[in-house]
Amino acid sequence: MVKSPSVYFVTLGCPKNEVDSDRMTAAVVASTYRIAESPGEADVVVLNTCSFIQDAVEESIATTFELAEDWKSHGSDRKLIVAGCMPSRYGDELVESMPEVDAFVPVADEGSLLATLERLTSHSPGPLPADTLRTAGRPSAYLQVSDGCFRSCAYCTIPSIRGPFRSMHLDDIAEEAELLASGGAKEIVLIGQDISAYGRDLDDDVTLSDVIATVASVEEVEWIRLMYVQPDGITEKLLNAMAAEPKVCHYLDMPLQHASEAVLRRMNRSGDTESFLHLIARIRALMPDMALRTSVIAGYPGETRRDVRELHDFIRRAEFNYVGVFAYSPESGTVAAELDGLPTKRTRLSRAQAVRDIADEVGVAKAAEQFEREIDVLIEDVDEDGTPVGRWRGQAPEVDGVVLLDSGTVGTIVRTRIVDVLGYDLEGEVL
Ligand code: SF4
Repeated sequence: MVKSPSVYFVTLGCPKNEVDSDRMTAAVVASTYRIAESPGEADVVVLNTCSFIQDAVEESIATTFELAEDWKSHGSDRKLIVAGCMPSRYGDELVESMPEVDAFVPVADEGSLLATLERLTSHSPGPLPADTLRTAGRPSAYLQVSDGCFRSCAYCTIPSIRGPFRSMHLDDIAEEAELLASGGAKEIVLIGQDISAYGRDLDDDVTLSDVIATVASVEEVEWIRLMYVQPDGITEKLLNAMAAEPKVCHYLDMPLQHASEAVLRRMNRSGDTESFLHLIARIRALMPDMALRTSVIAGYPGETRRDVRELHDFIRRAEFNYVGVFAYSPESGTVAAELDGLPTKRTRLSRAQAVRDIADEVGVAKAAEQFEREIDVLIEDVDEDGTPVGRWRGQAPEVDGVVLLDSGTVGTIVRTRIVDVLGYDLEGEVL
């Protein structure tokens, strides 16, 4: 019997790309292709790329040429598909510069991946089931509730890559949450470019609070986490919904990008030090144990020493648990790339490191507050030494550190006493 072609996915970039790859994988499996365990076993490799800043573009280009050279050239019939944000950002330019690639599938066309696979492999897939498709089996799963963005931050390429803001319908969110939970997910992480804007494009009067209620109504779901929540979208209604629903982790990822009013206005963003500190005080008044993550950009065009001091002071006073720090990167096609007053690359990198040092000082001290506390830990994996590894409600996947345990089963939530703290990582004894 002729074996159906096997496909291997390589995913670069953010959790949104991971969801896109997961949906594409599920559709490929449902269409009777096989999923290869490694490139070596694959007839087709799909590289899902990222391109929101230059570093990501360079990584996507390098990975494409590596696959072409180290994988495709070693098999006469092998096909290489490049998907995601790089084809969305650069379009036909890539066709000429990357003749090794057999097909490009931009973000907006990922639904056409199956047709592309059929064209390249001459394999006629079976009929595709109508309902939502995701792969299963992980204790934690991302659920993308919206895509694209309606904002126009001066430095950002994402609206031009992922398009205008669009919410997923609540019924589809309910169906996907059920599917992920029945596949073993105890934690659902809500993501988008800006989930605080959920519902703004829908006719019926729904908001992020309704998404929380919908996902919380799925019995097997035990934790709900909110990522990418823009500060001016954090309403009393949202905070009350978070405080009222026990399944919601007291955790918020709210990108602020800077604290200086002057810099924020040049970014075409709102807010300033005092309004952000006021917002954080409101959040902590309602949920004192709230873990806060933010992201900031250092070395933005026109940033003065005074702006730098204001940002340092703000990071100390706000006491974030985690801060993602980016050295500003001028991106072609953005308003910010035309701004004057661009600090040298060296200055941008050193300013970013200075912010990171302050944020780590604060963040590690916050992590140490968990010492000798009893907390719930979701066990996600076992490391190479056989140690169960998990996260507590105050740690998001992939970015905030882990909890190392002395025992436990993957996919369970265990009550744990923290017996040691190692930077952002914790060590726990299961009770
Ligand atoms: S909110 Fe985020 S995705 Fe939207 S334009 Fe601003 S930085 Fe980009």
